[in-house]
Amino acid sequence: MNRERGFDITNPSVKMIKLVEEVGELAKEVGKTIGVKPDRVDVKKDIEGELADVQIVLLGLASTLSVDMAEAVEGKETKNRKRTWK
Ligand SMILES: [Mg+2]
Repeated sequence: MNRERGFDITNPSVKMIKLVEEVGELAKEVGKTIGVKPDRVDVKKDIEGELADVQIVLLGLASTLSVDMAEAVEGKETKNRKRTWK
């Protein structure tokens, strides 16, 4: 997808900045739920779109860094399960 769309696949810093930008957009949409039911269809649609953007850019960053996210999450969750949560 990165290549298809002509996105830079060599510079993780560019991806990181884009990720923060998308997280900001998600925060803005979630912020709109203050005083509103977050499961309201229109609110949920906007949040879904921004969550998708965050995941897409995150996966692009992982790809740029040659990180297999499935393995990374599994490895981290293995550690997390052994941790004591307070
Ligand atoms: Mg977005």
